[in-house]
Amino acid sequence: MKAIAVTPKTANSVRVVEVDKPKLTEIKDGRGVLVEVLRVGACGTDREINAGEYGVAPKGFDFLVLGHENFGRVAQIGENVKELTVGDFVVASVRRPGRSFYDKIGTPDFTTDDKYYERGISRLHGFMSEFYAESADFLVKIPPAIANIAVLLEPLSIIEKGLKQASDIQERLKIWRPKTAAVLGTGSVGLLTTLALRLRGYEVHGFGKDKGKGYLNAELCEAIGATYDSTLELSVTESVKKYGEYDLIFECTGYSPIIFDAMQSLNQNGILILSSVTGGKRKTDKVPSDKINQQFVLGNRIMFGTVNANREHFELGVKDLALSEAMYQGWLSRMLTHKVEGLENYEKVFDILNNAAKYNAIKVYFEVNK
Ligand SMILES: [Zn+2]
Repeated sequence: MKAIAVTPKTANSVRVVEVDKPKLTEIKDGRGVLVEVLRVGACGTDREINAGEYGVAPKGFDFLVLGHENFGRVAQIGENVKELTVGDFVVASVRRPGRSFYDKIGTPDFTTDDKYYERGISRLHGFMSEFYAESADFLVKIPPAIANIAVLLEPLSIIEKGLKQASDIQERLKIWRPKTAAVLGTGSVGLLTTLALRLRGYEVHGFGKDKGKGYLNAELCEAIGATYDSTLELSVTESVKKYGEYDLIFECTGYSPIIFDAMQSLNQNGILILSSVTGGKRKTDKVPSDKINQQFVLGNRIMFGTVNANREHFELGVKDLALSEAMYQGWLSRMLTHKVEGLENYEKVFDILNNAAKYNAIKVYFEVNK
């Protein structure tokens, strides 16, 4: 069968490879599920892997099949799979357990291992292929009513984890009634964050670089009752004069200096969530360190980082996808701006990924099968 792969650490090596169709017997204990891939999303992670910045091939291979944002249909099940049947829609989680204590209790997203296992990213083949085999333990069932938007579940799961941790951490307060939030970055992750916060009743203020007028991402913020501001016109620190200090700030710009602005824009007891993977070497010296330190101390403020997601966060995401369709019907479909039919058209997908602004692309994805 066909798959899309790269040679890790080699720039622009993306290509079609021919691989064996996976078998149920590859998964132990009769828990195997063969899944026919229907859609696979592409994102900055795939772009960076194809740029040679990271990615590790599985043992015994000199290539890595890409793809972590997945959606498929069950084609075959092992004898000990009771929770799924042939024809069910499913999304697979991405990280697989390593060896640390956290991996053993179902939370590989908190692994303390240095080497980790992620499908389509590190040491395991991904989902840009016609079929994949997986243990039912790592598959989340998708209700048919949200099948058309379920390729967004994996990116949403990252946000679900961030927000779940924020509410877990804030249990320190006994009572936490957050009202306002800022979302820094309005790409696909920022838009999904804006949505998740609107679903929780927050007043949400989105910040991006582009000017608001005629910018689809800004329009999508406003369509669900959030504001949009360009940081070229209104900095995050200045914005508190207009909107007040924020109870929660979610950072997903990829531009690390902005976190110091965010640290100065939190309300008392407020919480700042960092989710950008900034692999560069950028430095900044414009940090009012006394002020920030004092604000954090006197206001009991919090900042934490978050990565990846476990099964619980995918399940929370399923509920939010359904709630989104109930509250803002059709909004998530508007994020799915670019569909490319057939894995063989991978060059088109990477052209859109590399030139997202030119294409006005929010989410580009393969339709592998209908
Ligand atoms: Zn992604």
